[in-house]
Amino acid sequence: GPHSPGEVPVPPRLPGWEHHLSGKVRDVYVPAAHGPWAGRDVLLVVASDRISAYDHVLPTPVPGKGAVLTALTAWWLDQLSDIVAGHLLSLDVPQEVAGRAMVCQRLDMYPVECVARGYLTGSGLAEYRAHGTVCGIGLPGGLGEASRLPEPVFTPAAKAGLGSHDENITFEQVQALVGSQAASDLRRTTLEVYARAADLAHERGIILADTKLELGTDVGGRLVLADEVLTPDSSRFWPADAWTPGQPTPSFDKQYVRDWLTSPACGWDPASGQAPPPLPDDVVDRTRQRYLEAYERLTGGPLAA
Ligand code: ATP
Ligand code: MG
Repeated sequence: GPHSPGEVPVPPRLPGWEHHLSGKVRDVYVPAAHGPWAGRDVLLVVASDRISAYDHVLPTPVPGKGAVLTALTAWWLDQLSDIVAGHLLSLDVPQEVAGRAMVCQRLDMYPVECVARGYLTGSGLAEYRAHGTVCGIGLPGGLGEASRLPEPVFTPAAKAGLGSHDENITFEQVQALVGSQAASDLRRTTLEVYARAADLAHERGIILADTKLELGTDVGGRLVLADEVLTPDSSRFWPADAWTPGQPTPSFDKQYVRDWLTSPACGWDPASGQAPPPLPDDVVDRTRQRYLEAYERLTGGPLAA
C-alpha cells in the first residue's frame, strides 16, 4: 500500500527468520536456513505497533496495537472456519514478537482486495455520488453518508502500487483478472464472511460498516483467508450508538488520532504533503484503550497477556 519511504523503521532481526518485506503496519519474514520452519512454504507476519492515518505512518507507535490486531485476526479465523479456511498455522513465534506475530501458510494471493460493504461511506460514497453505483453495482437513489445499504455488496478493488490508492473495480474486471469461477468464489466467500461478522458485531453493539479481505489459494488449490482479518485496520467498526445516517460516524479506533491531527492545537494539514507530528501521550493512551475495547467487545473477553 501507499507509504513514504523513511516512515517505516527498520524491522527487528529475528532468529530463524529473514526479513522479506514491510508494509505500513506489518513486517513479513521468510524462514531462515536453520530456523524451525526451514524449507517450509510459510511466512511470519508480524504486526507492529505502527499506526497510520491520512496515508501516513505516524511517528508515534501505539503500544499493544500489534498484539490486538494479531489476537483479533486469530479469533476471527476461528469464528469463520466453517465458511473458509484460514492461513494461520502457529502462534509460537520468536519471543521478540510474541503475541503480535503468526506463522502462516504462504499462499498464491489473488490480486484483488475483497471488500464487502453494508453501509455507504468513503470511496463507495464518492462513486455513488458521482455515478449512482458502487463498483458498477446500481444502488437506489436517496442514499448518503453512512446509509445502510438494502443488502451488503461485494465491492472489489485492485491492489495499487506504492504511493497510489487501491482502485475500485467491477465484478467483470475481477472475472478478467482471476477467471469467472474464482471471481464467484471470492464474492460468495467475502459476502458470507461479512454477514457472519456483521451479525456477531451487531450483537456486541458494533456496526461493521465494511471490511477488506485478502484471499489466496494453497498448493491444493483450496481458497484460504489470509493477511489480517476483520481488524480495525482492515474494517470500519462504528459504535452502534454513535451511528447517525447523514453524518460521518467516527471510527472506533482512530477517532482520537484523526480528531487530534486535524485540530488547531496540532496545526498539521493532511493536504500539506508534510509528515505528521508526534502524538501526545493522552492521544496514544486513549487510542490504545480503544483498540483494547474493540477486542474485548467483539470477543467478549480480555486480551491474554
Ligand atoms: P499496507 O498494509 O501498508 O497498505 P500491504 O497490505 O501491501 O500494505 P502489509 O499488510 O504490511 O502490506 O503486508 C502484508 C503483505 O503480505 C500483503 O502484500 C499481503 O497480500 C501479503 N500476505 C498476507 N498473508 C499472506 C499469505 N498467507 N501468503 C502470501 N502473502 C500474504
Ligand atoms: Mg495490508
